[in-house]
Amino acid sequence: MPPYRAPRGTRDLLPETRAGLSRLEGLARSLAARYGYREMEIPLFEQTAVFERGIGETTDVIEKELFRLAPRSEDSEAWALRPEATAGVVRAYVQHGMQTWPQPVKLTVVGPMFRYDRPQAGRYRQFWQWDVEVMGDPGPGVDAEVIELGWRFYLEAGVPEVQVLVNSIGDSACRPAYLATLKAYFARHEAELPELERRRLEMNPLRLLDSKDPAMAVLIAAAPMISECLCEACEAHFASVRAHLDAVGVPYRIEPTLVRGLDYYARTAFEYYRRGAEGQQQALGGGGRYDGLIELLGGRPTPGIGFALGLDRVLLALEEAGAEAGREAPPLALVAGADPADTVSRLRVASLLRAEGLSVRAELAHRKLGRQLETASKEHAHFAVIIGDELAEGNVQLKDLEAGTQRLVPLADLARELARAAKSHHHG
Ligand code: AMP
Repeated sequence: MPPYRAPRGTRDLLPETRAGLSRLEGLARSLAARYGYREMEIPLFEQTAVFERGIGETTDVIEKELFRLAPRSEDSEAWALRPEATAGVVRAYVQHGMQTWPQPVKLTVVGPMFRYDRPQAGRYRQFWQWDVEVMGDPGPGVDAEVIELGWRFYLEAGVPEVQVLVNSIGDSACRPAYLATLKAYFARHEAELPELERRRLEMNPLRLLDSKDPAMAVLIAAAPMISECLCEACEAHFASVRAHLDAVGVPYRIEPTLVRGLDYYARTAFEYYRRGAEGQQQALGGGGRYDGLIELLGGRPTPGIGFALGLDRVLLALEEAGAEAGREAPPLALVAGADPADTVSRLRVASLLRAEGLSVRAELAHRKLGRQLETASKEHAHFAVIIGDELAEGNVQLKDLEAGTQRLVPLADLARELARAAKSHHHG
């Protein structure tokens, strides 16, 4: 047993997995740019209050999963690692006066998030998200645009059969009456409620619809749905979101039990699942409209909408589907030498090639040439540069390991020759 291990709920991303994640991050960034988002960074930690206010104190994320940092001294501020990006991005929007920028402001963040969750497959304490936020546009067109962007990400990433679930959760005009109806319904069935849900009923009745407790399934199925209680404005907004989704050809399903249990969420809510896994806890991603949030964090009333897609779960989905998540590029060439002891020449030639932007590995162990070349093919290098007596006249041998051919090349031409070969083989 090694004496030290990565903390529970975290994992080292070994090179192959890292390459897969990098591919997804690259796709996220390029799609975001294609859709007019600008990338930004927010700190990995914030004042705890940003999350408590911005995510809501009665949510699991805050109640149970917030990764709180130990205070450094009595009077220092309370900090926590970010469990998601929206609260931080909205805090930044307010702090930097982005209300004065041309609206809407479209921002994207890619990076690790932290939740002190019970670790299990697809649920980690450090995980990666791609987040997009649009602030300053009340929709409904942009709602469909955001939903379509997430859907396109899965499509281009190669995740098969992603199901888009959408719902409208009303707004401050119609939700209060719905909440009262919902509360009255569950109160009538209070005796059947599990202990935890009974406590939630007072604080946040919407969360009961989200319950994963199997004892709740029948009650939830018969509960009044927000879709039956939408006001005219919310009804029209939702109809228009659907019309825009139809127009861009995103297949979706209306899911009346899809809710976000916080007051500042409004209207559009959506989630992405693998088809057949909709009933399970593990969404691939989700998002919604948060028209009250910017005001809650000290800004002027401004509408907003965004999503967070979990990249770890995309990697898992690709793995399950047998797809290759990413490929590490092998080195273009390995620099080997006939004289095992002459590591100086090998390092010098490798350095020359790297200065020209080529990806090469230098063989710096004192091994026989035959062994050096074995490594080259193990690593799938396309070429071996072999340094021998010819170096005295300024030449090296260039061996094409795939074709099995070898020829003498002046050192002065080596980088150009390799670069040309790399291009024709899409290498490096
Ligand atoms: P949420 O903010 O909880 O809606 O999370 C958005 C997405 O992030 C989810 O759909 C997951 O794909 C991903 N996610 C959330 N929590 C975790 C976690 N603990 N481990 C891995 N992925 C997560």
